[in-house]
Amino acid sequence: MKDSFGRKLNYLRISVTDRCDLRCRYCMPECGVESIPHGEVLTYEETARIVRIMASLGVTKVRLTGGEPLLRKGITDLVRMISGTDGITETVMTTNGVMLSEKADDLIASGLKRVNISLDTLDRDVFRRLAGRDRLLDVTKGMDAAYSAGLGVKINCVPIRGINDTGLADIALISKDRAIDVRFIELMPIGCGAGLSGIPSGEVLSYLQERFGDFEPLQNDPASPAERFRFGGFTGSTGFISPMTHKFCDRCDRLRLTSDGFLKLCLQYPAGADLKTPIRAGCSDSELTDIILGAVSKKPSAHRFTEADMTDSRKMVQIGG
Ligand code: SAM
Ligand code: SF4
Repeated sequence: MKDSFGRKLNYLRISVTDRCDLRCRYCMPECGVESIPHGEVLTYEETARIVRIMASLGVTKVRLTGGEPLLRKGITDLVRMISGTDGITETVMTTNGVMLSEKADDLIASGLKRVNISLDTLDRDVFRRLAGRDRLLDVTKGMDAAYSAGLGVKINCVPIRGINDTGLADIALISKDRAIDVRFIELMPIGCGAGLSGIPSGEVLSYLQERFGDFEPLQNDPASPAERFRFGGFTGSTGFISPMTHKFCDRCDRLRLTSDGFLKLCLQYPAGADLKTPIRAGCSDSELTDIILGAVSKKPSAHRFTEADMTDSRKMVQIGG
């Protein structure tokens, strides 16, 4: 499936819940967001049906996200349904890691290939202030358990001035002796992120270079927006995802599905299509396919985060990153 700019769309990010057990300041207000009522959330069968149709249109990779995906009851059942879908070759998850230690083995057994764990600091006080909860030790335990169990592990860190900037070298060091990729992601001015000051990737790289010395550029994975490097003596890579300073919209290969069944075409804009209403009204697979293809033809060419008035009112916790 291609959009009107010829971009091949083969990657679907599914937010399975808008609930979360953390309150990261750039993502979710301390008071939370008004949760979608349970009856409005797609069932696993409805989600799996959308994945099956998407796979028939060329989607090969599915990421489960949220809110916090591990909070959704029976999530390993959904992982099993998706990873067993014809055409889906990669089922992965983005998680805050809090509940990962108890679920890592079941996730692997269900067909999950990799977890991206969001971890912005290794300092317990900073974590508590940034994530609103004292759960750092659960996250590091989850990371260790996932790695030991044989799940692929990537770490996502969002550098924010005056909040976690003094601990970025410690995050990078996670990849020193382990085959873990650490990626620094530029803060996007979406929802709660709008009032904070993100640090450009170039500045983080210079800072790490002062600390760790020379690095070799690595070949970038064409399916990933990350620019990757390896510092001397490091086992894993250090990557940078730079939606603000190096837009990668011309290579965008992704679609997003919110937990209430809305197919979202771009992280920024509200444009998309409601899939839940036609599904619950009994539409056929070919009707659903037409709705998806009709929406895809309207995928915007690029984000323009500086024009904030065009931005979706959904918070990141409701979209899934
Ligand atoms: N709860 C899971 C987690 O934290 O990994 C999955 C959902 S979370 C919304 C997905 C990703 O979005 C996280 O890596 C988080 O750091 C990132 N994120 C949230 N708000 C962001 C923002 N304003 N700018 C950049 N990344 C953001
Ligand atoms: Fe929750 Fe993830 Fe958002 Fe943090 S980034 S509040 S863990 S959804």
